[in-house]
Amino acid sequence: MASRGAILPAAVVGGVGVAAVIWVLAAKRDQVAGAGEFSGERALAHVAELVGVGPRIPGGEAIERARVYIGAQLAASGWSVLRQTFVDDTPRGQVEFVNLRARYAPGGGEIDWKEGGGLVLLCSHYDTKLIEGVEFDGANDGGSSTGVLIEMARCLATAPALAGGVELVFFDGEEAVVDFTATDGLYGSRHYAKGWRSAPPASKPVAAFVLDLVGDSRLRIDPPNDSPRDLLVELYGAAEQLGVRRRFGMYPAPITDDHVPLNAAGIPALNVIDSGYISRGRWHTSADRLEYVSADGLELVGRVMLRLLERRAGR
Ligand SMILES: [Zn+2]
Repeated sequence: MASRGAILPAAVVGGVGVAAVIWVLAAKRDQVAGAGEFSGERALAHVAELVGVGPRIPGGEAIERARVYIGAQLAASGWSVLRQTFVDDTPRGQVEFVNLRARYAPGGGEIDWKEGGGLVLLCSHYDTKLIEGVEFDGANDGGSSTGVLIEMARCLATAPALAGGVELVFFDGEEAVVDFTATDGLYGSRHYAKGWRSAPPASKPVAAFVLDLVGDSRLRIDPPNDSPRDLLVELYGAAEQLGVRRRFGMYPAPITDDHVPLNAAGIPALNVIDSGYISRGRWHTSADRLEYVSADGLELVGRVMLRLLERRAGR
């Protein structure tokens, strides 16, 4: 992801008291009836696999290996995966990009991919940025959120009613080839969003949550300050219920990431992002490595997102 302007410490709101502890216990009981427990260790294992294929540069062989891995993991949990392939112009010439869309369909059968009414999108980008002269793994940037979504697919499959209301989307080409402009970066999400732009309102997904940079050990989720209010309230509410509200705040500026084209296409989209990671020294450097990805951080985000989906479903 990219962000311009100064990074300021976001406000820390809320705290953990006796009431929060009671909420955690209540939430744990409730999860028995909902989706299975989200495992940070499992998510981390997926991040390791993604890093292991090599830098996931759009159009290359390593990113295809990543797609095969993601697809196989989702299929094993009962999800059908659609490859959305397209070619776009980039500062380095034409590149073939592939988004992956997944819906829960354990028995197979036809899926109407043009119908998205009532669906919630959970999104991540899985590509890595090509940085000349730098061996860039994208363990946190592109890897962490993708690992979370794969583990999320497994958890949701234990609650079919919940899984049926979700589409998982893995965007290619989030990173700019040179720098973010209207035509460089966000290739996958711009293409995907275009598909929904002219859909009747009732056929569009109702909301999107775009995860990015969710693996740092000092994780704080600070969505941009132009986020849809109701989605922010949902996120904070789920975090509050799990006793982790203090890890969630707000970044004091807009952010350029895959939520932007979705919002422009009429799908309210929230960037669930650790904005502070950008200024902590490892972002877009060779130090964005697996050893710095934390299972605890992945689990925190995964559990909050699951809780959010359960609350949406009235659980
Ligand atoms: Zn990036």
